[in-house]
Amino acid sequence: MELNPFEIAKKQIDIVAKEMGLDPNITKYLKRIERALIVSIPIMMDDGRLQIFEGYRVHHSTVRGPGKGGLRFSPDVNLDEVKALATWMTWKCSLLKLPLGGAKGGICVNPRELSKKELEKLTRRYTVGIINIIGPDIDVPAPDVNTNAQIMAWIMDTYSMNKGRSVPGVVTGKPVEIGGSVGRNSATGMGLYYIIDAMCEKLKTKLETQSIIVQGFGNVGGWIAKLLYERGCKILAISDISGGLYNPEGLEIEKLLDWTQQGNFLKDYKIDKNKLITNTELLATKCDILVPAALENQITLENVNDIKCKIILEGANGPTTPEADRILFDKGIHVIPDILANAGGVCVSYFEYVQDIRAYFWDLDRINRELKRIMIEAFEDVYNIHKERNIPLRTAAYIIAVSRIAKAFDLRGIFP
Ligand code: NAD
Repeated sequence: MELNPFEIAKKQIDIVAKEMGLDPNITKYLKRIERALIVSIPIMMDDGRLQIFEGYRVHHSTVRGPGKGGLRFSPDVNLDEVKALATWMTWKCSLLKLPLGGAKGGICVNPRELSKKELEKLTRRYTVGIINIIGPDIDVPAPDVNTNAQIMAWIMDTYSMNKGRSVPGVVTGKPVEIGGSVGRNSATGMGLYYIIDAMCEKLKTKLETQSIIVQGFGNVGGWIAKLLYERGCKILAISDISGGLYNPEGLEIEKLLDWTQQGNFLKDYKIDKNKLITNTELLATKCDILVPAALENQITLENVNDIKCKIILEGANGPTTPEADRILFDKGIHVIPDILANAGGVCVSYFEYVQDIRAYFWDLDRINRELKRIMIEAFEDVYNIHKERNIPLRTAAYIIAVSRIAKAFDLRGIFP
């Protein structure tokens, strides 16, 4: 029960509803998703076998605008996980004042087991399966775990071929050559960086003196590790699905990025002065700032008392369960919640969407300037409520996000 992500998402709504005295009708509405589509995806594999995969696309709320949310390829994907991720996208877009709703998608597959041709067929057939519920005015997918710019390009092409015209605004996170935005790839990491810098300022500590541990070394974990390393922070440990590397003197992040970007696992990296550790050991290692940037449910009742950091910066969606959250708050560990910390990705996705619709593209300076402005504004709003009411940063962020959704719901009314 503690670990079902959609149950967790609903529990988070109950916590904030109680804190802000939310209308029970609205609470009821927010705990449901608007729609979910489950599709079977038959693929003729390279060896002549037919394999059938299951895919999902969920819209949690489109009350503030078209759905927006990533697409995940993972053997653990299931409907409740996608529902939770779609719900968190609703809060994230609302917190940043983006005119978008919450959506998410996934396919239950291990993409490492597919050839490039099989992966392309899977992506294109899934796109056709969900074609009626995506589009620039309906729902705009983006990359998430194990999906990337190439996969977004295949979705954009499949959608465009079916519509008989080029529709770049159907997805974000595309390659820049076909309507993608500069700065999208680094956006989630940049957003995390702006937020942790602002938090350190509030706590009157210098970011560059902080020791860091990052769980997950993909798009999000890789970028935040690189940005903090370049800032001068000591990166004590990082991990991927194969395990982690620890070095009390600090890891050489650029060399490790070269290694993993060639498709290698961290566990196979030459050891030198680094020590191999497990993901469980990594989370329990002492540091100033811990960045979970892999998957949900990493900090739970089971390991929360082992956590020895001052700040948790949530790069992943849903890495901390509500029970663990409560304990961390009581211990004085600051948890910067996912819907704020990792919102840089959806923010630059929104910029990409705007650029595609206007067919006018911005430069990297403008992207990062506007990203920083929006992230810092949201951070200040959240931090102020957290201080005024002495409540966790997550509850403060939810109060802002949920209030805006409730207002939109009230203004629009219930059809018919
Ligand atoms: P990714 O596929 O690029 O990287 C995921 C990383 O996590 C990889 O290094 C992988 O090996 C590692 N990993 C997977 N399972 C693990 C496990 N059990 N233990 C430890 N490490 C594990 O994915 P990403 O885009 O970096 O997404 C990571 C998280 O950030 C997800 O929760 C995602 O929803 C969230 N997120 C991503 C974006 C984005 O723009 N990509 C935006 C906001 C939030």
